[in-house]
Amino acid sequence: MAQDWYRENHTPHAQIALSVRQRLFDQTSEFQRVEVVETDEYGKMLLLDGCVMCTERDEFIYHEMIIHPALCSHPNPRDVLIIGGGDGGSVREAIRHRGVKSVTLVEIDALVIEASRRFLPSIACGLDDPRVDIRVADGFVHLDDHQGAYDVIVVDSTDPVGPGEVLFTEDFFKKVKRAARPGGIVVFQSENPMYYSEVITKMHRTLRGLFSHTGLYLAPIPTYPGGLWSFTMASDEVNPLTGKIFEGRMDPAPLKYYNPKLHRGAFLLPNYVKALVTP
Ligand code: SAM
Repeated sequence: MAQDWYRENHTPHAQIALSVRQRLFDQTSEFQRVEVVETDEYGKMLLLDGCVMCTERDEFIYHEMIIHPALCSHPNPRDVLIIGGGDGGSVREAIRHRGVKSVTLVEIDALVIEASRRFLPSIACGLDDPRVDIRVADGFVHLDDHQGAYDVIVVDSTDPVGPGEVLFTEDFFKKVKRAARPGGIVVFQSENPMYYSEVITKMHRTLRGLFSHTGLYLAPIPTYPGGLWSFTMASDEVNPLTGKIFEGRMDPAPLKYYNPKLHRGAFLLPNYVKALVTP
């Protein structure tokens, strides 16, 4: 029988191809097609509308790097909000922090949570922690009645298409700012600097108008478009590039990617990326 392949166009002229051992789940919600496939190279993989969300083998990079720089930069992160993140990976990382008292996960699509619980237990394993409150809702709406409610807000969204599109708008960024407590830190997944340069430049121009400090940082993610991913941190009190990095506040379980020295280094940018976020 011919080898089965998963292919995703990163641009009309570039794609990733992964050999598939078996196709485990394929349903369509009111928002998107949700699939889980078993790949030979990266283990089980969650796809939304045909795009890689996470794989068992390399998800640790993305989930450690979207969570720990912000939570290790905040002096006392008690209440955390994660918008998107229905696979559960960001939640798993946030509850490692002993001082965190609540993690609210606002995921618009219940089918993503269901698929991750069923097929990706190593990623979804934190969803049943007593500190976790799962809301199936639109993050854009949730923020309206949660002003000044969170110490750290993480936007672990899909790309700026479909339900995720609203999470890249100025209105949304203003709502995020209002939902953060004084001293709060917000972080967004901000796409690949080669293929989404305009998204990054526009996002940073807008955020510079809302927050005193913004910073872009990078991590290599093999299965994402361009193999390199960016994250954007913003705060009125904490400078992402120079602020104190608090250590020793996580469970001893070893992290596979993040460490304090790498945290600082991740904000050191190649010239072509720095140019995207320089006014
Ligand atoms: N790590 C992935 C990435 O960087 O592409 C994204 C992780 S997670 C699977 C993205 C989640 O955002 C999806 O489950 C999607 O349903 C959710 N999402 C998209 N728009 C949303 C919205 N407006 N409110 C809440 N969740 C949303």
